[in-house]
Order: sequence, then structure tokens, then C-alpha cells
Amino acid sequence: MPYCTDFTRVFRGQPPVVLFPSSTAQVSQILGYCHQQHLAVVPQGGNTGVVGGGISVFDEIVLSLSRFNQIRTFDPISGALVCDAGCILQSLDTFLAPHQRCMPLDLGAKGTCQIGGNVATHAGGIHFIKFGPLRGSILGLEVVLADGRIVNALSTAQKDNTGYNVSQWFVGSEGTLGVITGVAVQTYPQAQHKSVAMVAINQVDQLRSVLGLTQQQLLTTQSAFPPRTLPFAQPHPYYVLIEAEGADETVAQECDNLWAYRELIPSLLATKMTLAYDLTLPLDQFYSIVEILRQRLQECGLYVGPNDHQSPVELVAGFGHFGDGNVHLLISIRCAEQQVLECIEPFIYDWTKHGIGQAKSQYLTRARSPAVVALMKQMKQMLDPTGIMNPYKLLPACQRRTAGS
Ligand code: FAD
Repeated sequence: MPYCTDFTRVFRGQPPVVLFPSSTAQVSQILGYCHQQHLAVVPQGGNTGVVGGGISVFDEIVLSLSRFNQIRTFDPISGALVCDAGCILQSLDTFLAPHQRCMPLDLGAKGTCQIGGNVATHAGGIHFIKFGPLRGSILGLEVVLADGRIVNALSTAQKDNTGYNVSQWFVGSEGTLGVITGVAVQTYPQAQHKSVAMVAINQVDQLRSVLGLTQQQLLTTQSAFPPRTLPFAQPHPYYVLIEAEGADETVAQECDNLWAYRELIPSLLATKMTLAYDLTLPLDQFYSIVEILRQRLQECGLYVGPNDHQSPVELVAGFGHFGDGNVHLLISIRCAEQQVLECIEPFIYDWTKHGIGQAKSQYLTRARSPAVVALMKQMKQMLDPTGIMNPYKLLPACQRRTAGS
């Protein structure tokens, strides 16, 4: 069932029920009831997350936003769009296209992920260099708190300095503080024309020079990934895709073809059981984690190399967005999942800075200082005192309270 397992097929849940509210009032009624009854709830968007954040761990109810997907308002002059949280990212771009506008983020999962899930995970993607982090484009949110209270902070003003920015508390909260039901987002003028170049490089260090040069010359998006069948006479170890605005419109079709290579990567790599990690690394270490993990898995006797068909690990690959240092690390495994996990974790979390979910909640303290983690726990306690919102995720040892405890 699509609501019980995720893209990686590593996380599997057995929720007693999956609910499909189609209005803020219904979300409020559901949470109010669950709060009274101490029933735990997992908000679920498009279920494209790769760390099990939207999957139930024990008996949590899954609350899917997939039927809550209407556009509420759009101002073509300011570009402020207000929509339900369950709107699919790509459908928002389709809506904006006739207005020559686009969403502030774009990612491989855009045909399935929802804007509410994008906000809850503070997703990055291929527009990061151009428009900056998503939180900068979030004008306001409507949220239902754990006890059913509706908080309407759907401002459409670009500048709002009236006190705390409550909406920002929920950006990156991974469903642990409440359910995002409405999103006010800044959209941007669409590029009239764009061009895409694919550059082959021999050493991963050369990525930094490519980034430096293109940032000086162009406003760009950049992705880096390992080889498949590509339009080069000789194979190279690494390829960089660069998109720039302002070229001749006749190149549009070639642009789409080049992007198709990049967008195929996750599905090509994730045909078997796949361990997926979404890491943020300094640019000078962007690809090292892939090489280090290959070596580590070889030392553990779990991986031999690309042409071996027997060992538990079939493939260790990395690709991502060089502009924001976001590496998607995928490890395809044939068997011995537990041994593989023991070999690479907790080692891998010393490198990571985002995407916590259920996969990594015990490692939050490696990425955040004790004072920050303490403050996060206080916020959780204030907004969700019975701990029903997405328990066992994000925060270490933040368990839900059962009735009477
Ligand atoms: P889900 O997977 O359903 O949920 C993710 C988390 O958000 C869960 O903790 C869930 O409880 C919570 N949540 C979902 N909706 C709500 C809501 N309405 N209110 C409160 N909490 C909610 N991520 C990137 O950052 N950059 C990338 O470039 C990128 N590329 C990807 C490419 C592919 C092919 C795939 C499969 C994934 C990629 N991802 C990427 C990861 C994922 O797509 C994003 O994290 C996405 O933002 C998740 O959105 P979703 O709607 O699928 O959320």
C-alpha cells in the first residue's frame, strides 16, 4: 500500500487507518479527537521523503494531505500564491506557467511531492542557487496544532516585522509540531529562455572551479552525478549539468533532453532495496563521502566493486546539487541490510546536517548543539504536550505520552 512504505522501501509501517481530510476544519477535528484520545498521528504528503519521516513506526494513524489540494489565491502582480498544503509541486508550476511565473523550488520528486511536505522537510533542489533556501520564499503558513487549534499565519506580505515569525517554526519541523494545511509562497518570474550545458570532468575537485566560473558569468543551477550512457565520445567519472537563463529559445528541446539524464538517476539507482541519505556537506568534501563509504564497505567485506554480482552491496553512488552542497547518497543492497547498516552508521551521521526523519533521530545531537536541541524539545512540549505529532521522529527520545502517563 503506497501509504505504508516509502520511496526507498526501507521503511514500512502498519498504520491502523489512513485518513484523507480535504479541509482545514477536518484536520482540526481529527487532531482534536486524537489529542483527547492520545492517538498518535503521522502527517503524510507525497511520501517521497527518503528518511521514513512520513511512515508510521508503530500504531500511528497516517493523515494524508493528498485530497487537500486546491489553489486558494494568486496575485499575478506580487507573485504571492496561497494554496492548500496537499498541492503537488508540479501542479503549482503548471498553474503558474500561463502567468510566466514559477515556484521557488524544483526537485526530481516534483510530480509527486506536495508543497506541505516541501515546507515540512525544508526541501532544497535545483533552484537553490537562483532563489535561495525555501524558507526565504515562505510568506506564511496555516497550521493545525496537535490539539486541533487552527493557527492562521497566512501573510502574503513580503516584509512582515510584527514580532516572532511563527510560520518559520514549522519549516523543517517534519510533522512533529503540527499539520501544515495552507502555504503562502512567493513565486518568481519564469526565465524566458534558458540553456543547459553538460560538462564532463575528470576530478571531483574541478566542480569548485566550475561553480566559481559559472557564478561569475551566469545565474545558474548545478547538479553533479556519476556516469551512465551520456552524449560524450569518452566516458568520464563525473558530469556537471549547468542551466543558465537568457539563451535562444530553439535550444529548449536539447535542454529537456539533458535534464532527462539527471532526472533518471534516482529511479535507475533505486531499483532494488536502497538505503538513501540526504547529506549536506562542505563543497570541498562534496563527493568524498561516496569514496569513503565504498572503502569502508569493502573493509567490512560487504562490497567489492561495480562488476561484482554476489556481494551484499551492489552499488554506492552519489549525485546532488553542488550549489547547496546537497549530496544524495544511494546504497543499493542485495541482502544483509543489518550488517550494512552497522558498517556505515553512525559513521555517516558525523557528516550529515539535514533530513532527520525516523532514520536519524538519535543523531540530531551530532548536528545541533545541546542548547538548540533543548530549545527544540521545549517547543515540542509547548506545541504538542501529549506528543502525538509524528512521534519517534526528528527529536531523540521524544516519545508520546499514553493516556494516564
Ligand atoms: P513526505 O515524504 O510525505 O513527508 C516528509 C516529511 O514531512 C514527513 O516527516 C511528514 O510527516 C512531513 N509532512 C508532509 N506533509 C506535511 C504537512 N502537510 N504538514 C506537516 N508535516 C508534513 N529533497 C530535497 O531536499 N532536495 C532534492 O533535490 C530532493 N530530490 C528528490 C528526488 C527524488 C527522486 C525523491 C524521491 C526525493 C527527493 N527529495 C529531495 C526528498 C523529498 O522529495 C523531499 O523531502 C520532499 O520535500 C518531501 O515532500 P513530500 O510531500 O513527499 O513529503
